[in-house]
Amino acid sequence: MGITISSAFDAGNIRVVGQDGDTFDLEIVKDHLSDFYQWFYFRVAGAAGREVTLRIVNCAGAAYPNGWPDYRACLSVDREEWVRVADTSYDDGVLTIRLTPTADSVWIAYFPPYSMERHHDLIASFAALDGVEYRSLGQSLDGQDIDCLTIGSGPLNVWLYARQHPGETMAEYWMEGALDKLCDPDDPVARVLRTDATFRVVPNMNPDGSRRGHLRTNAAGVNLNREWHAPSADKSPEVLCVRTAMDDSGVDFAMDIHGDEAIPANFLAGFEGIPSLTDRQSKLFKAFSDSLERLSPDFQTAQGYEVPPPGQANLSMSTTQLAERYGCVSMTLEMPFKDNFNLPDPVHGWSPERSRHLARACLDALHAILPQLGEAARV
Ligand code: ZN
Repeated sequence: MGITISSAFDAGNIRVVGQDGDTFDLEIVKDHLSDFYQWFYFRVAGAAGREVTLRIVNCAGAAYPNGWPDYRACLSVDREEWVRVADTSYDDGVLTIRLTPTADSVWIAYFPPYSMERHHDLIASFAALDGVEYRSLGQSLDGQDIDCLTIGSGPLNVWLYARQHPGETMAEYWMEGALDKLCDPDDPVARVLRTDATFRVVPNMNPDGSRRGHLRTNAAGVNLNREWHAPSADKSPEVLCVRTAMDDSGVDFAMDIHGDEAIPANFLAGFEGIPSLTDRQSKLFKAFSDSLERLSPDFQTAQGYEVPPPGQANLSMSTTQLAERYGCVSMTLEMPFKDNFNLPDPVHGWSPERSRHLARACLDALHAILPQLGEAARV
């Protein structure tokens, strides 16, 4: 029987460009109307018990070539548990994945995928709970709703949003952990958070890119996290509708959830370079980061992005735009595609379950700074 490789499904991405026996040459497909690519997700069928070699040959031109060294591909038989393929190597622009599938249908991906079908399951399950309010903030270019869940009734306005970059699927697994904790009727931290704050949660900012199997852009090839200074209905309605809802509610605290291809650690990026930076904002950001570092051994502050000089912030990004626009505390959380090399898991690497745990720690850290945040909001 012949081996087949396919990606014509929700969030799939790969192209077969050559075959020699059980060795396949593959290419990752660019985001539509864009040059970005790095996300892959495909099925290998009919290969049980055979040694298969998968060579992704266009990795040198991917968005983040530094993402490939020390990276190991993800594999699943049941599409629920994902493990790392130990025999993954990167050399001369080619990522080589060698495996002997145990079943005739196995799935390979850059990171455990988060399809739009799974997104709809997530929204349906939480929207049905008492104390959770569902709202569509607007629609994407492909006509998909921008789903928002509101939880809690306190005076502090907290926004959590993820997957502006659709290939960073760990961000929506983080959302599962955050929503689980926030909606737990017995969790004492959640009970206090729901009393002191109103949470507006957008688990997926970019449904079109998610369904199309994009790395970084929407249906028009636009990077949503470069649109926050001037979102438009024809290029970035996803950002326009969320920013409009934020203008209506106000924002005291916001987290934008992402994944980083190259750095093997969890870290935060802040808003240090905004023109109207205040001491209050900087202190609250540091208080949150310090708390999170104490609460989660998976979080650290030694590695991260370079901090821009004073006044040099890029205000087209959401974190800086929100901090400047609302005087709030906002931040970008980056999780690794590879692993946290300080606390590695050789079987799973960085994983959905660890992303969920980190989300719970982030809410604990938010709880730890609530007195300072509440005081600042009242001033
Ligand atoms: Zn990102």
